[in-house]
Amino acid sequence: MTPPLPTTPGPTPAPRLAQRGRARRVLLWTALMALLVVAQSLLVALSLNFESGRAQDDTERVATLAAAEIKRELMRQARELQALGFPLADAEREAAVAALLRQRHGLERVERRGEDFAVRRVQDTPYPPTLFAQMPRGELLTETQLACAAARIVGAPRFSRSYFVPMPGGQGTEVVDLCVPLPAAEGGGTLVGSFSLVRVLERLGDERAFSGHELTLVEPDGTRLARVGATRGAGVFVARQVIDLPGFSMQVRADGTRGRPSLVPNLTTALVVGLSLALFAVVALLARDGRRRAEAERALAEALALRRAMEDSLPTGLRARDLRGRVTYANPAFCAMVGLSAQQLLGPAARDGTEGDAAPPADDASEVQPYWPPEYVPEYRRRLSRRLQGQGHGPNEAREGVETVFMRSNGERFPVMVYEAPLVDGAGRQTGWMSAVVDLSAQRRVEELSRQQQERLQASARLATVGEMASLLSHELNQPLAAIASYASGSLNLMDDGVPEADPELRPMLRQALQRIAEQADRAGRVIKSVHAFVRRREQQHESIGAEDLFEAVLPLVRLQARKSGTRIEVRLPTGPARLSSVRCDRTMVEQVLLNLSRNGIQAMEAGTDPAQRLLVLSAEPAEDGRRIVFTVADQGPGIPPDVAARLFTPFFTTRAEGMGLGLSLCRTVAEQHGGALAYGPGPQGRGAAFRFSLPVARAAVAEAAPAAPAPGASPRRAGTESGDTADPEVLSSTRP
Ligand code: ADP
Repeated sequence: MTPPLPTTPGPTPAPRLAQRGRARRVLLWTALMALLVVAQSLLVALSLNFESGRAQDDTERVATLAAAEIKRELMRQARELQALGFPLADAEREAAVAALLRQRHGLERVERRGEDFAVRRVQDTPYPPTLFAQMPRGELLTETQLACAAARIVGAPRFSRSYFVPMPGGQGTEVVDLCVPLPAAEGGGTLVGSFSLVRVLERLGDERAFSGHELTLVEPDGTRLARVGATRGAGVFVARQVIDLPGFSMQVRADGTRGRPSLVPNLTTALVVGLSLALFAVVALLARDGRRRAEAERALAEALALRRAMEDSLPTGLRARDLRGRVTYANPAFCAMVGLSAQQLLGPAARDGTEGDAAPPADDASEVQPYWPPEYVPEYRRRLSRRLQGQGHGPNEAREGVETVFMRSNGERFPVMVYEAPLVDGAGRQTGWMSAVVDLSAQRRVEELSRQQQERLQASARLATVGEMASLLSHELNQPLAAIASYASGSLNLMDDGVPEADPELRPMLRQALQRIAEQADRAGRVIKSVHAFVRRREQQHESIGAEDLFEAVLPLVRLQARKSGTRIEVRLPTGPARLSSVRCDRTMVEQVLLNLSRNGIQAMEAGTDPAQRLLVLSAEPAEDGRRIVFTVADQGPGIPPDVAARLFTPFFTTRAEGMGLGLSLCRTVAEQHGGALAYGPGPQGRGAAFRFSLPVARAAVAEAAPAAPAPGASPRRAGTESGDTADPEVLSSTRP
């Protein structure tokens, strides 16, 4: 009964799965890329926005600071002027006014005017060009008068609206006047200070806090009053701040020289962009890596599928064992062979997927495999422990294999050939053994069948030989039977002639006749027996036997055949110290071969050889290596023509009408079964045919071959024995016609 194969997962709809996996991967990658693009764009936009915001804040701060600074400065000077007044005859105070003008914080001129607004006293800045050099002061008084009138009304300092004062060289400057009403104790009237807005602004322009900005003073309607700054503003980041002065207000406008932040020169943005590019590069590399991995996985899956298909389709069993001798893998063929499922075969470590420790177990019962026949367990365990100790694994073992016996689950033992090789992992460490196991039972059955057929064929061939000899036998038996008959009738005649008791001569004559009858009957019986013995001996057994014994056994039958055609038979064996050793062979078959070859030789000579020349020589001699004995059967016939030679050993090929064509093919099989071959060539004198084969020398004989110098006269047979001189006078006699 064939056990069920271990269940293996059925084929999956691989293309559909692969397609779905690919679609999902594409979707994931697209989503990832989209997210990255959005995130990076946002990041860049935010960083640009942040840069702009910072620049704008900077500009706002500059504007606020400038406005505060201008207002503070103007108000401070206003307070100082108010405190000084402009004395008409106080030299000390006059010096203070002059010092104020020298400090050049925008104050260009100080006038003391009377109640009637006429100038009482005036002092200009010492630095040329002075105001009102180009245009008389009287023409530029409108704004001043208005402001001073207002100042007197409120009794507090007031600034006039700004007005343009032309200067030499086609230039001009915006000027603001400060009117400080003086108390009556000081002489009444007004103190007027004229400030150049450009000078006021220039003072700020020198300060670092305002660098990078163009500062402009403008009126609320947008008219530009004064401007300061090394470079012009870019008009991108602009801030305005109102300067509220008593009686007059204006705006300070700060304009950053920096333009809109561009993508690259900006460090933060450059960093963000650089990082984004690096991120994209990493993602691209990851994608490539992923693709390569997917390709490698696909190739691996294909290789695995191919390997699985190969293992599943192999008729050879495959088995892997770990270093403890436990089965870690078995292919379906091996499972089917031993009739166990893979689950039943795998060791516990392999089933759990855990790695067993590499120390070989001394006598762990778990290593006994379920497919080991119980009677072999001790031997197999010994073999395994030898293997585990690193012995018993010859280099040829994997190539040549080891024959052993396994057991199926139903208890049936069967022969297997195991080819085993070490299993080495990627790091070069041995992790176990891999074996290919071939079930030999079918091969053994075929061999047995062929052996039986061979035996049957050989038996048939023997019977055929006997059949051919039947006529010869009848002729051979005829002689003794005729003699018996004539002796019997002679005896009867004697008896009829007289009463034996009365005739004293008659008694010895009768006795002699009866003796002859007994002899002839014995002779006939021996002829029958020799044929019977030849036909009956069929068990194929190898035994040690001397070459002379082999010849002796076949010679009676050979001579029987030879007699008809008058062929002489010669046996040539070495004698003396060179005496032949025994050979080990299947005696019956070798005798059959000798008989066949002799018969073929005799028949060949019957056809076309002069009767006087007909000679068949049977000889034996040691081969050159001393390990075999060469047997030769040579005739003086016509030899083997080339067209016959081509098909000489083909079964059923014959040139004789009554031949079967099996003789030589059988001879060759027997010669090969004994480790040799059947060869042929011309006879000793270049005539006829000589067939040759060799048999192995018996082992005991090989061992004692060298010192085996036999005692003188121990030779069992002389060389060149004539047919008539052989041991069996009854059957072998009279080969001569
Ligand atoms: P069979 O004897 O039945 O013909 P064999 O196989 O013994 O079958 O021989 C095949 C053929 O080989 C013979 O028919 C013969 O032609 C040839 N042959 C065999 N032995 C000899 C020999 N000694 N001399 C010449 N021809 C031979």
